[in-house]
Amino acid sequence: MPETENIVEIDHLSHSYGKRAALVDLSLRVRRGEIFGFLGPNGSGKTTLFRILCTLIAAPAGTVKMFGLDLAQSREEIRRHLGVVFQSASLDKQLTANENLRQQGRLYGLRGAELSRRIDRLLERVNLLDRRHERVEGFSGGMRRRVELAKGMLNQPRVLLLDEPSTGLDPAARIDMWNYLAEVQRTDGVTILLTTHLMDEADRCSRLAIMDRGRLAVCDTPAAMKERIGGDVISLKTTASSRVAEIIREKFQLETETVDGMVRLERQRGHEFVPQLIEALPGLIESVSVGKPTLEDVFIHVTGRFFRDEAGPGEG
Ligand code: ADP
Repeated sequence: MPETENIVEIDHLSHSYGKRAALVDLSLRVRRGEIFGFLGPNGSGKTTLFRILCTLIAAPAGTVKMFGLDLAQSREEIRRHLGVVFQSASLDKQLTANENLRQQGRLYGLRGAELSRRIDRLLERVNLLDRRHERVEGFSGGMRRRVELAKGMLNQPRVLLLDEPSTGLDPAARIDMWNYLAEVQRTDGVTILLTTHLMDEADRCSRLAIMDRGRLAVCDTPAAMKERIGGDVISLKTTASSRVAEIIREKFQLETETVDGMVRLERQRGHEFVPQLIEALPGLIESVSVGKPTLEDVFIHVTGRFFRDEAGPGEG
């Protein structure tokens, strides 16, 4: 199998469901050893991309290469080197952790001592070796997800794909899950690709692709994305957004962005600028916040919309 620095190469990838475009002309590279995240609100095309990369959607338009092999021609071979962790639980709750992995291993044609060795090593990796003979139904959400992770690693994949790995987990279990992911990436040298709509999860990726309505909005490290904004983000809550934007333009020659009635501007040393702003806008401002740019700010900066706009209730 050819060794390539870019373990995933996507060129001009598009996919539609009937007339509805889910992915539009997506091109990007994922390098070997990265933890690469696809971040986007609901409907941005993450699941569609995930399904294409898992080889579950046949013949999308454009090209996808993994390990230098073309997905359209080498589907079976690519599949052998993929580990997949779906969002919906794939475990049999009536079985123990060990039995779940054993069942999965048999699907890969693994048997006997080799299968037992792999299962023990992976359950140890996710810190569940001492609970391996307990039924999954008694496990917490975080523990179940760790069994799923071990299951996805059973075939010793070169690329591990995870769909929203920490959705539904409490904050402590999320951090825990990430520590295990980082461990798997480091120890097994596996490249990790994941989808997420959670900013804290995206922040932990080595590189990110921000997706917006099926298109790639920006692709870079989280730090570089935030640096591009430069300085601080000042947000002004007002009931007169166009008047506020106009005054700021006239008085300070600064461009603002209005999102959902909130006027935003990006500025070095934001806290020093706030008093001047308030003075220039008497009675027009209800509240002001100043902060270092977050990935949410990056999303607003590149799309002109709030991230949560398209997310479903209670998400984002
Ligand atoms: P995400 O995972 O980011 O929420 P999806 O890939 O699920 O995004 O969806 C992208 C777009 O494709 C959305 O407009 C969605 O409604 C549409 N879509 C997804 N799956 C289907 C399907 N099976 N049939 C029709 N439309 C779909």
